[in-house]
Amino acid sequence: MKLGFEHTYAALPARFYARVEPAKVADPQVVIFNRALATELRWDPDMDERQAAALFSGNELAQDSTPLAMAYAGHQFGTFVPQLGDGRAILLGEVRDRHGVLRDVHLKGSGRTPFSRGGDGRAALGPMLREYLISEAMHALRIPTTRSLAVVTTGEQVYRTEALPGAVLTRVAASHIRVGTFQYFAARGDQEAIKELLDYVIDRHYPEARDAAVPALAVLEAITARQAALIAEWMRVGFIHGVMNTDNTALSGETIDYGPCAFMDRYDPKTVFSSIDLGGRYSYTNQPGIAQWNLARLAETLLPLIDADEQRAIELATEVIEGFVEQFETAFLVHMRRKIGLVSAEDGDADLISLLLAAMQQAQADFTLTFSKLSRAAQSPIEDAALYELFTAPADIDGWLQAWRARLVLDPQTPAERAETMRLANPEFIPRNHRVEAALQAATAGDMQPFHALLGILQRPYEQQPDAAEFTQPPPPSEEKYKTFCGT
Ligand code: AMP
Ligand code: MG
Repeated sequence: MKLGFEHTYAALPARFYARVEPAKVADPQVVIFNRALATELRWDPDMDERQAAALFSGNELAQDSTPLAMAYAGHQFGTFVPQLGDGRAILLGEVRDRHGVLRDVHLKGSGRTPFSRGGDGRAALGPMLREYLISEAMHALRIPTTRSLAVVTTGEQVYRTEALPGAVLTRVAASHIRVGTFQYFAARGDQEAIKELLDYVIDRHYPEARDAAVPALAVLEAITARQAALIAEWMRVGFIHGVMNTDNTALSGETIDYGPCAFMDRYDPKTVFSSIDLGGRYSYTNQPGIAQWNLARLAETLLPLIDADEQRAIELATEVIEGFVEQFETAFLVHMRRKIGLVSAEDGDADLISLLLAAMQQAQADFTLTFSKLSRAAQSPIEDAALYELFTAPADIDGWLQAWRARLVLDPQTPAERAETMRLANPEFIPRNHRVEAALQAATAGDMQPFHALLGILQRPYEQQPDAAEFTQPPPPSEEKYKTFCGT
């Protein structure tokens, strides 16, 4: 069996990775298979299920696979760890998708590797399905992300605080190169490897930087631009990544690593879900600042390639990193304007948006519901009543609604155009934490129906789905205190 794999990463020097095969598992069974994504990869969407189970558990290697675990380092919660690497993941190879783009195909939970440190190299079904669900929801929200091709149970148990069904996720990514990949070589003073990795990143993600005066600087600029755009996308839907370590920052600009992420319900910029993030380092509001911090760590590794004069290199890199703030703010303002129905720009818009967010925070209004109800209020003031329900009293939002309507008059869209702008900026459906948990619990107990139902809803986040109205609703008060976990 061949899958059309290419091996550009495996062609890099041996110190970039460890060659290792996935562990064999007892009884692989496909739990979910993403036929649309298989088609995108030019694979048979109706692949025989036994074949899929064998391939995407790691039990059978395609003849053209050259499995490897990638080396990388990373700052975890601000502390540098010089060696992390794929401790439970294996790159099977790369496939050229139907747009001609090379995509990594990677197993997660496929056994120990030389980078496993203390870990068992395994994954439990719940967290792998969680990554599948949330990454596919992000994709449907039109946010750059790694994708999920399959989850296959292993027929073995993994031991966490309890015994859980084991599973392997097949992740598809533009690549798995991270800020931490550069840091790995920088920590070893391996300038040759940094140069080689940079060339690879240019070829694979930023070919336009090849002819720039200073390619390393052009790549840093391009990565910075993609991160600014990405974080603005997260912020517009209330996504909290939860573990923005430098090893979880992909240079492709995709969202990667769905461990402790979650979507915010009530609007509070300090929201944190991760059980280990006690200081709130990766809270909702800190995400842009952390992304910039991570980019600065990348910049440090590139300095020798930016200019032979270190001082000059620092100046040039600093200018790029400082530019992140404005790029993020500009992108975020465009999104937020659209969320309140504006496509034109006026001086007071940022203030108008801040005032709305302040009112939402004051009332602890649900982030997603506020904007979807605002979309309706834009069409008719009769709908204001539904919006009032999210606030303590109508007076808390009435003044703002008046200022907003005065601003809408200056915007050139027809009512129909505005309705469409707002529909596409304001999802009706996000992966609500309590719904995700319920689906995963059922799946772990052997019932996939709630998972499939939820996935189906989340694949059309911007559409009205009258049958799924209850999935637009925030959790009941008893389920508001949601906690997430890393490395499960
Ligand atoms: P993450 O928190 O998923 O970004 O993982 C951080 C590091 O821990 C990476 O090097 C992972 O490969 C490693 N890791 C996480 N879980 C396991 C596990 N069960 N076994 C081995 N390594 C793991
Ligand atoms: Mg990671």
